[in-house]
Amino acid sequence: MSFFETIDPIFDSYVLGNAPVKQLATGFDWVEGPVWFGDANCLLFSDIPNNRIMRWSPDTGISTYRAPSNFANGHTRDLEGRLISCEHGTRRVSRTEHDGTITVIADSFEGKRLNSPNDVVVKSDGSIWFTDPHYGIMTNYEGHKSEQELPCNLYRVDPHTSAISVMVSDGNCPNGLAFSPDETRLYMADTGRMFSDDPQHIRAFEVDTSGALSGGDIFHVIEPGCSDGFRIDADGNIWSSAADGVHCIAPEGHLLGKILVPELVSNVCFGGRAKQQLFITATTSVYVISLNRQGVQKP
Ligand code: MG
Repeated sequence: MSFFETIDPIFDSYVLGNAPVKQLATGFDWVEGPVWFGDANCLLFSDIPNNRIMRWSPDTGISTYRAPSNFANGHTRDLEGRLISCEHGTRRVSRTEHDGTITVIADSFEGKRLNSPNDVVVKSDGSIWFTDPHYGIMTNYEGHKSEQELPCNLYRVDPHTSAISVMVSDGNCPNGLAFSPDETRLYMADTGRMFSDDPQHIRAFEVDTSGALSGGDIFHVIEPGCSDGFRIDADGNIWSSAADGVHCIAPEGHLLGKILVPELVSNVCFGGRAKQQLFITATTSVYVISLNRQGVQKP
């Protein structure tokens, strides 16, 4: 069987014909938030309903990194390599310091509790950008069922003052997010309810030198499924989750090809020795595939 579906012939040069989609670990309930630690040669990811962060290493296999995890979802690393986590259960974004202590980055806006931070990126100026849909407080499955106090916004945390600003307020359920390699563009998934008439697309915003956003038009509509999370390669292609696998989308917005994955994909991240491996979190399992592409050289 082929692991790929080519839409644009250029996609054939992005994949390695004999590289498999390999299952690394399975038995989870809903995995999300993969983040690569090259210095520790390991992958961290969330198993949200089981309230834990897992660790996978090619040397030692699978183990539990943190439990309980406060129903952590998306992760990234900041400019010092520290783990930044979105936590549904505590409705906050946290940072794990080098000594293991936890610092709260954001848990409220104008006196109201955040909903359930979902995904997060750090810009090269140190600012922390995160989405705050209500998925983690709708039921007790991925957090604690609770009242929504704020709209589903995208926020920015200032690296100097720690002030929190609303950057996007007109989304349905902002979800995955990433900057283009030169950071002149911010991509944000907007998802609503899966397999419904709600938005299932990625929007693109222009980012000026002060960090202000403009634009926000629909960049690409995911079909089938939705874009829960994505990462960018060094050439600016977007590698996004979808219902049938991972979709590779050109910076111009058209679909180039797909990696077919046997489970519903939630998110991806680049890692491995040369940042040419794509780790894929998909429902009950984590997969990896080697590509002829490199992840963007940022956290
Ligand atoms: Mg997400």
